[in-house]
Amino acid sequence: MIYSVIVDISASEVDRIFDYKGEGYQVGMRVAVDFANRKKEGYIVAQKETTDCPLHKLKEIIAPLDDFAAISPEQLKLGEFMRREYHLRWVDVLRLFIPAEMRGNRVKTLSKKQSYLTADKSLDDILSSLKPNAAKQRDLVSFLYKNGATLNEQLNNSFGAGALKALVEKGIVSTNEIVVRRSPYKNLKTAEQQKKVLLPAQQNAVNTVLSNKQGRYLLHGVTGSGKTEVYLTIIENIVAEGKSCIMLVPEIALTPNMLRQLRERFGDNVALLHSGLSVGERYDEWLRLRNGEAQIAIGARSAIFAPLTNLGAIIIDEEHDSSYISDFNPRYNTLEVAEFRAQENGALLLMGSATPSLTSYYAAQKGQLRLIEMPERINKRPLPNVEIVDMAEETRSGHKGIFSRLLKQRLQETLDKGNQAMLFLNRRGFSSFLMCTKCGYVAKCADCDVSLTVHREDNMLKCHYCGKKYYMLAKCPECGQNSFRQGRIGTQQVVDLLKEMFPTVNVLRMDADTTQTKESHGKILEAFARGEAQILVGTQMIAKGHDFPKVTLVGVLDGDQSLHHSDYLATERTFELITQVAGRSGRDTETGTVVLQTYTPTHYCLQLAAKQDYKGFYKREISLREASAFPPFSEILRILYQGENEKDCIDELTTQYADLTNLKADNSLDFFYMDKMRCPLKRAEKKYRFQILIKLSKNSVNKILPQIYSICDNKKRSNVQIFVERNPQNLS
Ligand code: ADP
Ligand code: ZN
Repeated sequence: MIYSVIVDISASEVDRIFDYKGEGYQVGMRVAVDFANRKKEGYIVAQKETTDCPLHKLKEIIAPLDDFAAISPEQLKLGEFMRREYHLRWVDVLRLFIPAEMRGNRVKTLSKKQSYLTADKSLDDILSSLKPNAAKQRDLVSFLYKNGATLNEQLNNSFGAGALKALVEKGIVSTNEIVVRRSPYKNLKTAEQQKKVLLPAQQNAVNTVLSNKQGRYLLHGVTGSGKTEVYLTIIENIVAEGKSCIMLVPEIALTPNMLRQLRERFGDNVALLHSGLSVGERYDEWLRLRNGEAQIAIGARSAIFAPLTNLGAIIIDEEHDSSYISDFNPRYNTLEVAEFRAQENGALLLMGSATPSLTSYYAAQKGQLRLIEMPERINKRPLPNVEIVDMAEETRSGHKGIFSRLLKQRLQETLDKGNQAMLFLNRRGFSSFLMCTKCGYVAKCADCDVSLTVHREDNMLKCHYCGKKYYMLAKCPECGQNSFRQGRIGTQQVVDLLKEMFPTVNVLRMDADTTQTKESHGKILEAFARGEAQILVGTQMIAKGHDFPKVTLVGVLDGDQSLHHSDYLATERTFELITQVAGRSGRDTETGTVVLQTYTPTHYCLQLAAKQDYKGFYKREISLREASAFPPFSEILRILYQGENEKDCIDELTTQYADLTNLKADNSLDFFYMDKMRCPLKRAEKKYRFQILIKLSKNSVNKILPQIYSICDNKKRSNVQIFVERNPQNLS
């Protein structure tokens, strides 16, 4: 038999299938092969009877690496889909499907010795064969009689190694090896869960979804409307039919609640896929899913590749979250991968959010997704009251500083009542915009209507969309003053100020600096939940689905920050963030308050976010997108060139740009825009970065994309890497 093999070589740019011969292998197996006289690992992606390669040159597969096919037939199909859609190399795709440490044989199943009573006799019979004074041996026998087979390590601990050894020698006890699964749940505190009686809105959502188990659904439920319970009930129904489920959350460390609730409800039927697990735990959880020992996978983005068969449901919580779009190699959109898997398995796909992405809500309007709405919080608890503070006005009236008078007052009131507050700093992306602190003016590109980015190294303002440059402003074109802000406030600075203002109050901080270790997220959140601090200061990390009943005040210190980020998604992201953080306030009996500090208080995004008016926002934003032909009305493509040799990058880009220009000339109606430029992040990890940005008409994607990809494939310089991103979330 001839096998087509993808050889696993990381540095190489080779994306080719090599043929080998062998007998008795399965498609999807990992194998050892001879490649250029070196022993390498590879994946069998197909088998066939004949090959173009001369038979005498055909090498024999050396050996299998596992005793099972690590890649399933469905995954191979998915791999082909991802290669086609995202212009990915086979090896990068295949590596997504297995735990990283399977490669290089760095992880194995763990087996341990266990012992059991050899003969099926009565306890008295066995004991009568032992000396009356062999107390430990007698105890051990009684223990095994009662408990059955037990791990040797436990027996040796309880009865001493001598007792077990003696019993084995006498043949009374026998020993064998069993596979033990390493468990990542040791620190997870679960309790007996009382199943909630669904409220009418929840019951309606569940009924709608279960009425067509191959449907596509968008659950738009405000923060605190009880979406989790809807997910759990659906999973329960699907699992009862013997099918498996995938539950995705934006970031597992930030959403410990979901894992806890799933474990409480479904116990060992849940497996966690998460990069924070130990190597052995990750491998064993993957095996449990692969072998059907667990039917429910939970995890962040990459859990969409869970090795489950017979999938009945894929649920994506907080579907608007940008983490679902991978922005490094391999780049892919989790929602599209989910759609593919749902289709292959005849499974249902349910996406939920309080602030659906514009693209998803638009799809629902078009009837591609069925919209289910839960517009009220559980028990009709009111949404928080949002107060907007004009920070330019604060400055004008002589109140400089990070905290407005209103926010200080609300903080004081909250602390006096013994409640808790969360203060949120908004910091997305790496670019910083230029803003007048007197009037709130923000420097924007004349052609693109996106904010300009300050480039300190040459003191210029640049548009990250079209590449246009502007001189740094000496004074504000609106009010004539020279009072610009371009930096950011730091979380530590906020904590220090709080300690000055409220010396007796405990403050916790959660950001990238304080969450370096594996468990730190959970620890900070748990401490806050236990009431060890009254104020939690953080970045977007604290915006996600937490449920702290004592929080009645949320302060957004810099509501503008992401609004002026230089891409077309900035407004949508800001609306999401503000709605999400506001949703942390007043989740229990007391109505919550939100103080939103901003330099652009009249901006429609902030006004509508303050009212939590998603539909109003959607209407406005979608018409702007349509008018300016941004997604979902077009498709944005970024082709990224990177390499350590700057000139080679430029040459490669220039050559391909010429080919693309020809393509554009032949299809001028399909191209809305195309340009080449340096990336805003000019050099990363020693590599220079350049990009071509293309805006394509939505209808021509299927026609044009393969042609663009084939131009990309026609690469001349091996030291330049080329990556394509579709509708990137981040253009840095
Ligand atoms: P969402 O994810 O929509 O923001 P959650 O699922 O976190 O909302 O639910 C909000 C709160 O309401 C939680 O404290 C949850 O325990 C509670 N809850 C949900 N469903 C019910 C129900 N049917 N009866 C009582 N309480 C509920
Ligand atoms: Zn521009």
